[in-house]
Amino acid sequence: MPSVDIIVPVYNEQDVLDVFRQRMNEVMSQLDIDWRVLFVDDGSDDNSLHKMQELHAADGRYGYLSLSRNFGKEQALTAGLDHADGDAVIVIDVDLQDPPELIPDMIAAWHEGYDVVYATRKQRQGESWAKKTTANWFYRILNTMSDTSIPKDTGDFRLMSKKAYRAVGQLRERNRFMKGLFAWVGYKQKQIFFEREPRAAGQTKWNYNKLWRFAIDGITSFSYLPLRFATWIGMMVATFAFIYGLVIIVKTLILGADVPGYPSLMVVILFLGGIQLTALGIIGEYLGRMFNETKQRPLYLVDDYQPPGFDK
Ligand code: UDP
Ligand code: MG
Repeated sequence: MPSVDIIVPVYNEQDVLDVFRQRMNEVMSQLDIDWRVLFVDDGSDDNSLHKMQELHAADGRYGYLSLSRNFGKEQALTAGLDHADGDAVIVIDVDLQDPPELIPDMIAAWHEGYDVVYATRKQRQGESWAKKTTANWFYRILNTMSDTSIPKDTGDFRLMSKKAYRAVGQLRERNRFMKGLFAWVGYKQKQIFFEREPRAAGQTKWNYNKLWRFAIDGITSFSYLPLRFATWIGMMVATFAFIYGLVIIVKTLILGADVPGYPSLMVVILFLGGIQLTALGIIGEYLGRMFNETKQRPLYLVDDYQPPGFDK
């Protein structure tokens, strides 16, 4: 029988773990495959770990990998993928915003020969207009800038064959923009659609600050365009300044020196200062990321590991 590892990142989700198990059991019991669930506890400071221990004791198909602190969802997923060994892996959120009922479709597509089956949401229910619009912009900008095409409105919810998830596991960069990494590895990919539900319980861990960092991470790990953009603007302004310099020299030679010109001087200085700072900032974003990479720290640290088995 083919086997599937289900990887579930968990951060402070004590209220949904039981519901999650119920829904998962219901769906998986209809399928003719070996399955097990690995919760990755991303340093929860509520009762989540205790809940996972209970689930593990009650049902051996549920195991957990507990990280030493909160590393972020990307890192938690990577930890899960590193510990997986099934013929395929399914990555799913614990808050049931990714409906487990989609798993049979994913498995069917996998049996048809697809290596990656990813779920794209048709509608973003229960999300504000502002979030929808900014998300839209983000995907548009990201895809214009990067060479890897990253599907819109697609989260981490997906099935990957062993080939594909091992490939993702080989990418050891510290700035882990998972959607990008998943797309980067290629292989035969299939898109399926679903309606994203509101959270079953608990609260989202995202805020605008985090989303902004996430967006910058996405763009900087998949595109050099901002750096090139800085170069272009720099060159354009420099060319303009050079021509203007010539004009001033010629004018001074012909008409003599004229003292006025303070406003235009200020404008040029401020304008150039602004551009320089922006360019420096862009370089800084990349430099900071390079600094992070060169430290070669492990992506995550494991505190406790209770592997799940295929038997209850
Ligand atoms: N999560 C995590 N580490 C974090 C933040 C979130 O492992 O630092 C998990 C969380 O428990 C959930 C999933 O990632 O299973 C998605 O998080 P959330 O629901 O907060 O994100 P949203 O659905 O709002 O994008
Ligand atoms: Mg969620």
